[in-house]
Amino acid sequence: MRSIRYIPHVENIPILVRAALNVPVENGKVTSTFRLRKALPTIKYLQGAGARVVLIGHIGDKGTETLMPVYEAMKQYLPGLRFCPSTVGAEARAAVRDLPQGGVLMLENLRRHKGEVENGSEFALELAELADIFVQDSFDVCHRKHASVVGVPKHLAPYAGLQIEEEVRELTKALRPKRPSLAIIGGAKFSTKQPILEKLIVCYDRVFVGGALANDFMVECGYGVGTSLVSKDSDKEALHALLRNPKLMLPVDEVVAPLGSREDGDVVMPTNVPKNEAILDDGPKTIEALNELVQKANTVLWNGPLGNFENGFEEGTEALARVIASSSAYSVIGGGDTVAAVEKLGISEKFSFISTGGGAMLDFMAKRTLPGLEALDR
Ligand code: ADP
Ligand code: MG
Repeated sequence: MRSIRYIPHVENIPILVRAALNVPVENGKVTSTFRLRKALPTIKYLQGAGARVVLIGHIGDKGTETLMPVYEAMKQYLPGLRFCPSTVGAEARAAVRDLPQGGVLMLENLRRHKGEVENGSEFALELAELADIFVQDSFDVCHRKHASVVGVPKHLAPYAGLQIEEEVRELTKALRPKRPSLAIIGGAKFSTKQPILEKLIVCYDRVFVGGALANDFMVECGYGVGTSLVSKDSDKEALHALLRNPKLMLPVDEVVAPLGSREDGDVVMPTNVPKNEAILDDGPKTIEALNELVQKANTVLWNGPLGNFENGFEEGTEALARVIASSSAYSVIGGGDTVAAVEKLGISEKFSFISTGGGAMLDFMAKRTLPGLEALDR
């Protein structure tokens, strides 16, 4: 993987930069600029070196969304930023041609073309024809075999952006944690978290499983979970193997309430979950136990909220976020929902590293590579 620092000739060269532009938008306004700010170092580096920077990215997954609100938000950081309502074709080619040295242009949502997600060879070629060099800087999509991830770098000299470099460096570091080390994995869906759990149980001293993910383990322990969210088709043997490992820790108390309620809920032990209620957050004793472990840890890795935070059960997640933020440990966090919860508290800068990847972070940590990174090894 070659970094953009090694591009031999940058001045006045059109460079296609795949950036993480998929930020949350509500009522036509961007509500979190975290990913956009993380995209700036690469853009500014290339701009400063006199390149003609062509930004490509996606937003949403319906294939109809527009990057217009992202363009509006990005202008505050990049005065003079231009927008083209096409992604490929004559209009896009003309917009690139008109771009002055040091100029930055954002093309419309890649996913408006089905060739993006389907990795269509024609779409990849059309994108590649817009520029002379390709820079991958969108770590969050590097686990997907999309045209802008694995297709375009077949046609253009590929380079890794500064965000990609940082992600690889920091997540690799988190795989060799300073002891005592603590990993906290919450959220939901065992099948997506199984590979990382199996990795972390080997390289971390303690692995705490919380959130809805813990429900799958509770079921395997024979505890009733009432109407709680549980995963379908979990690998039972994998669950058992993890449960047998003494490094694994589960919640010792949980907040339960009738599903759909926004009430505070009751705190119960995992053995006492009422049949007609759901586990919606981890309880205060669990947070206290985590607090003690975080205080002692030299490395803390966290992915996945501890509760159904978007529906009012945010106490566990927020308490944990504050505990990690105030510790002196090297702390790495990631996951779309986890980062959103932390952003809301305004304490992002208190963490050593915040990954821009959700699925990509989990996959990278489990496998040490991603299709989008391999595509840069040419
Ligand atoms: P991330 O995006 O940070 O990787 P996930 O996508 O794995 O996190 O999980 C986030 C989701 O898990 C959120 O929608 C949250 O509401 C949900 N969740 C966590 N704990 C619970 C729970 N006890 N009951 C229901 N949903 C939960
Ligand atoms: Mg998520």
